[in-house]
Amino acid sequence: MALRPFIVGNWKMNGTRAMLAEARAIDRSAQRLMKVEVALAPPYTLIHAVHKEAEQIGVGAQDCSAESDGAFTGDVSAAMIADAGAKFVILGHSERRQGHGESDALVRAKADAALEAGLKLIVCCGETEATRDASGAEAFVVRQLEGSLPEPFEGVGERLSVAYEPIWAIGTGRTPTVDDIAAMHRAIRALLVERYGEEEGGAVRILYGGSVKPDNARELLGADEVGGALVGGASLTAESFLGIVMAAA
Ligand code: PEP
Repeated sequence: MALRPFIVGNWKMNGTRAMLAEARAIDRSAQRLMKVEVALAPPYTLIHAVHKEAEQIGVGAQDCSAESDGAFTGDVSAAMIADAGAKFVILGHSERRQGHGESDALVRAKADAALEAGLKLIVCCGETEATRDASGAEAFVVRQLEGSLPEPFEGVGERLSVAYEPIWAIGTGRTPTVDDIAAMHRAIRALLVERYGEEEGGAVRILYGGSVKPDNARELLGADEVGGALVGGASLTAESFLGIVMAAA
């Protein structure tokens, strides 16, 4: 991994203020592991509290609205999460795409709104098991990203990360082979370079996500073009999340 590895914990719909102790412990250890960029995406309700706890780690949101303000009951805008202390937002997670019917076009509109609010982006992509079995995974993921990624913008390499998360690997304990991950990440890199140019497209970190644990992290992070990990279940305790962070150091 030539780029500074980026390890992000996605707490999903988990966590009340009692979990702030985990965030604090992660932050304190991250201060000793400067070679790795560490971040947490807690639920909206904890963004401000984690932001206040954190001296080293980044804090982000798991989604945002494509709208800037107005009569959108229950939605939260990019400017609001930035105001709460978020520095980035995860967009297009498969649980949003599948569970909430989010299209590529909506993910791109959210990305535009997030950039406008000064946020960094982690744009997710990933195929179903049926698509993988039909040997169409790379073409599917590239098409999904073509529709979801924003047009070229200032500071792409620094502000954009892509997370490849095969849907069948999320929360299942199953992972693709290192060769399959590397092949997918190379296809994503080619798209990024085509869209944003050699320098900026080459600087985007491509994270792998899907059942990353302390005991498989080193192997998965060692795959070609893997620039970090997006971690769900194993990010919920400081102990397991830090095991992954240390594997990246
Ligand atoms: C995720 O949902 O982003 C994820 C990768 O989950 P898990 O690590 O639990 O598979």
